[in-house]
Amino acid sequence: MIGDCESCGDNEEDLTLVQRVYLTPADWDREEKVEVAEGTEHWCAVCLLHYPHQVV
Ligand SMILES: [Zn+2]
Repeated sequence: MIGDCESCGDNEEDLTLVQRVYLTPADWDREEKVEVAEGTEHWCAVCLLHYPHQVV
């Protein structure tokens, strides 16, 4: 689909519907935490490469 990437705002021809994923790296006193954001966003290919996400 064509439109604006909801992560970086670029106008792109190849957007993918994803859910953003928040990663908290493990530390000595806690385990790695993975949180999936509510709702979906359309992301361009560059954002898909750089940010954690789940394809819907
Ligand atoms: Zn983008």
